[in-house]
Amino acid sequence: MSWQEFPKLELHLHLEGAAPPALVRDLAKRRHIDISRAFNQAGGYAFHDFAHFLQVYEAATSVLKTPEDYAALTHAVLDTLEEQGVVYAETFISPDFCGGRDLAAWREYVAAMAELCQQRAARGGPDLRAIVTCIRHFGPDAAKETALCAAETMGAFVRGFGMGGDETMGRQGDFAWAFDCAREAGLGLTTHAGEFGGPASVREAVEKLGVRRIGHGVRAIEDPALVDLLAEREIFLEICPGSNLRLGLYPNLRAHPVERLRAAGVKFSISTDDPPFFGTTMVQEYQALERIFDWDAGLFGEINAMALAAAFCDGHTKANLTKRLKQADALAGDG
Ligand SMILES: [Zn+2]
Repeated sequence: MSWQEFPKLELHLHLEGAAPPALVRDLAKRRHIDISRAFNQAGGYAFHDFAHFLQVYEAATSVLKTPEDYAALTHAVLDTLEEQGVVYAETFISPDFCGGRDLAAWREYVAAMAELCQQRAARGGPDLRAIVTCIRHFGPDAAKETALCAAETMGAFVRGFGMGGDETMGRQGDFAWAFDCAREAGLGLTTHAGEFGGPASVREAVEKLGVRRIGHGVRAIEDPALVDLLAEREIFLEICPGSNLRLGLYPNLRAHPVERLRAAGVKFSISTDDPPFFGTTMVQEYQALERIFDWDAGLFGEINAMALAAAFCDGHTKANLTKRLKQADALAGDG
């Protein structure tokens, strides 16, 4: 079985960050919005560091104006997931970009995306669920409104709450109210930490926000006691090696801590974060990990099991996915 066919689970994927450049350019043209500076000559997204990446991300997102635009984006993202052999994914969506944190508008965006996902899944396509994210650099008050939107739309599609944005702004603990609100609504919790923030940001996320999952978290490797704590408490890391390399956290995959975290017993999965921005795909991530660390199908099967256990979907969905993964295992055994 090729890595393309190997069934994969992806738990860290920003919906707008997965937007094909052609879709964004097409919408910009139709709306007469000039975002040509967001692209390089080859037609891909252009940025030079993380702060600039966030600006380009927001420029690309500015062309998505209606629930129909988000349904079209979701459709395109599902196409890519299917091509990459992803059977289950969780994607970050934000009321900040979908209706400006207005609950009535937000409901329309969620309904449009959820309906599309249901139709595609019914036809055997990938199963896509949402994690509603607040944007850290918009501050704690905006995060409260976002959490309320998330709580109101918790259901089959909206399963989690998280935080993205500029990790250098404010502290994790400033957002405790929003995370408590989401937890009470029954949403799974995750936050970006230990990417641009050091290990202390990971510790703070666990202690102040009570999250069981961390977006990235790779810089935990700088504090051996923290690595032990993550392993003992089974705090799960959504690791995105290609994203970390593209944003300059590590010079190459050999220097990336993913293999050391695995050896230390930390639970994790592999994702692409914002694939067209970072020039990556799920298949490329798998190929690189196989090439550099000799990871094989058995190990990627273990990663699937860890991802499934940490996924925010309901038990029925997990049972179906377990069956689907077992069938794939059996096929691989026959081949
Ligand atoms: Zn991310």
